[in-house]
Amino acid sequence: MGEIELGLVAACPNHANRPGTVRCDACLRKVCEECLIHEGSNKYCSAKCVEGAKATRARVEDLNSRPPPASGNGIPVGTIVVLGLLIAGAWYAWQHKQAIIQLVQRYLG
Ligand SMILES: [Zn+2]
Ligand SMILES: [Zn+2]
Repeated sequence: MGEIELGLVAACPNHANRPGTVRCDACLRKVCEECLIHEGSNKYCSAKCVEGAKATRARVEDLNSRPPPASGNGIPVGTIVVLGLLIAGAWYAWQHKQAIIQLVQRYLG
C-alpha cells in the first residue's frame, strides 16, 4: 500500500525519504517523529487515527457502563456446560475403569 522500504525499515507514509520510527497506536503504521500526533500517553499517525481511537474508546466505555447481561440464577451457562462435560467424563472413566487400568498397566509394563 505505497509503503517504500528503506532497507528493513518501512518509510514514513508521508515522507518517503524518512524512516518510520514510531508506531501509531490506532493503525500500527510506523511514521516519522514529525508526523506523530501526541494525545495524552498515546501516539497517532494522523488526525483520522486520533478520531478513530476516540470513537473506539467511547464505545468501550459505553459497553463498560452497561450492566452485565442477566444470567438465570447467577450461574453462567458456560460453567454448567463445563461441569456437565466433567461429570460425563468422570462417569465414562468410571464405567471403563477396568479397561483404563489394564491399559495403564500394559503401558507401564
Ligand atoms: Zn494511524
Ligand atoms: Zn513523516
